Amino acid sequence: MENPTSAVNPERHSSWDTDVLIIGSGAAGLRAALAASEHTNVTLITKTTLTESNTHYAQGGIAVAMNLDDTIALHIKDTCAAGVGLCDVKAVEMMVSEGIPRVAELLDWGANFDWEGTLPRFTQEAAHSRRRIVHKGDATGRETTDVLIQRVLNTENIHVLQNTFAIDLLTDVENPKGHEETVTCYGVTAVVDEQVVYIRARATILATGGLGRLYPCTSNPKVATGDGFAAAWRAGCEMVDMEFVQFHPTTLYLDGAPNFLISEAVRGEGGKLVNIRGERFMEKYHEKGELAPRDVVSRAIQIEMELTGFPCVYLDITHEPAEFILERFPTISDTTQHYGLDISIDLIPVRPGAHFMMGGIRTNTNTETNLKGLYACGEVACTGVHGANRLASNSLLECLVYGARAGTNAATFAALQLSHPPDMLSAGNIGTSQTPHIEVDLVTIEAIRDAIRETLWENVSIERNGEGLEQTLAELQDLTTDLGSVPAPPESSDIAIIETINMLNVALMITESALTRTESRGAHYRADFPMSDDTDWHRRILIKNDNPPEVIPL
Ligand SMILES: Cc1cc2nc3c(=O)[nH]c(=O)nc-3n(C[C@H](O)[C@H](O)[C@H](O)COP(=O)(O)OP(=O)(O)OC[C@H]3O[C@@H](n4cnc5c(N)ncnc54)[C@H](O)[C@@H]3O)c2cc1C
Repeated sequence: MENPTSAVNPERHSSWDTDVLIIGSGAAGLRAALAASEHTNVTLITKTTLTESNTHYAQGGIAVAMNLDDTIALHIKDTCAAGVGLCDVKAVEMMVSEGIPRVAELLDWGANFDWEGTLPRFTQEAAHSRRRIVHKGDATGRETTDVLIQRVLNTENIHVLQNTFAIDLLTDVENPKGHEETVTCYGVTAVVDEQVVYIRARATILATGGLGRLYPCTSNPKVATGDGFAAAWRAGCEMVDMEFVQFHPTTLYLDGAPNFLISEAVRGEGGKLVNIRGERFMEKYHEKGELAPRDVVSRAIQIEMELTGFPCVYLDITHEPAEFILERFPTISDTTQHYGLDISIDLIPVRPGAHFMMGGIRTNTNTETNLKGLYACGEVACTGVHGANRLASNSLLECLVYGARAGTNAATFAALQLSHPPDMLSAGNIGTSQTPHIEVDLVTIEAIRDAIRETLWENVSIERNGEGLEQTLAELQDLTTDLGSVPAPPESSDIAIIETINMLNVALMITESALTRTESRGAHYRADFPMSDDTDWHRRILIKNDNPPEVIPL
């Protein structure tokens, strides 16, 4: 295989080859790149800049069972309790136990987390029975990516391509007589400098993160439009648990301010929620008050907003001295200060926003998908570690553990591939050759995006019901028809169009899964089925191709 460093030059080539291709530069992709590079050549592509990812904005920290009074068994127990019966216990065990050396290694590599004496300073977060969150103030994600990015840039056989937007997976289907069809993945098509190019790989890792931008209120940055979920689905990957979108209770609600998270750690340090009338309300909803599970707090806030007719509630951390707040929450203090709030004396206006996707591409604990040569890790993957609801700060841990596993496994697979990828590969089905080539104005695209976000927020967010879900399904189907007249690749390499197609694909998966699960569990709350039903619904929902959702055993 050509050395990726010399092969990659979009101006001279419309295609290039690599051994292991990694898509995404969050914690999962970066960690995977480091692991794969121990064995082979790696190309890491990312949609915008290396630093732009959900990981970069992570505040609270990384959950890890390293504290003196903590155990692996307790961390597993808390994780499975948050997942409400749907966690894959084997995958959780692996994450929690391998998480300890992964975090220790991050510290060794220079992560400058907060310390107290000879131990990291562990903080408390909701639904954890121990103080087990290691952190760097409220900028743990930035510290984590800084360390990983520096290491990636210092590794000679990792070639990084920024501003490279993955569109579809390149696949080859073998259909031997009498045998089951095998789909093999050989890389992706991507947009580089407005050109569609082919990046061929012996093994491919999807680490494209989440989808918060499908919703109008979210903690996620602009890159989180669910591209990896959509590309995987179009290529025939099995998608599971897509109804489980986690809403974070406290995103900043301030005129003119961008989407911004107010970390759970603020409540962990004693922050109280009050409504516009100044009344504390969480005790009414859960015995753990402000530290109840995220879905409970989000629903409680939504109810209080409806009861008071006010578009937000307030978070109050004013009991803490200003010096503590500045030291513990420098990013939050800085950002709010910028908009005229001093959180040591002012209340913080907050409301829930889409935060994290528990479901995704179905993988086993080796991060293998049902496509040969395709691996997935991090938020885009569903190993089953989160079940119906993610325990706070378990996501970065998952990225480190399963990112490393994906890198090693993909490199091993790549080494076993003796032949080059075939010349004729198909690239998903985002565009068809029949698509008429018409001019699209971006206003139309923006209107379609807004319509997706509005209908999801209205009917497929914190509280759902059958009628609303049916309505959204119909609206999404109409929008799909509208979008059918828009030129997609290969006719167009317009990233806004591709993202919008992806958003629609993923919105449909979420809505169909939510409609299928006729019970409430974890982050999925159906007002028309408010109870959990362990008899019929101790199961998962799988979506593959255009087939109707399939209910499968755990
Ligand atoms: C504000 C915020 C705070 C959080 N706080 C915490 C916390 O304290 N602890 C915790 O455990 N979790 C936290 N989370 C969740 C956690 O940060 C994420 O789940 C995790 O970082 C996901 O990592 P990832 O590597 O899977 O994806 P990401 O970090 O999102 O990275 C995905 C990468 O893929 C790239 N990409 C996407 N689409 C394409 C495409 N089409 N082509 C090429 N590249 C693409 C993106 O640009 C990005 O580089 C937080 C999330 C947010 C948003």
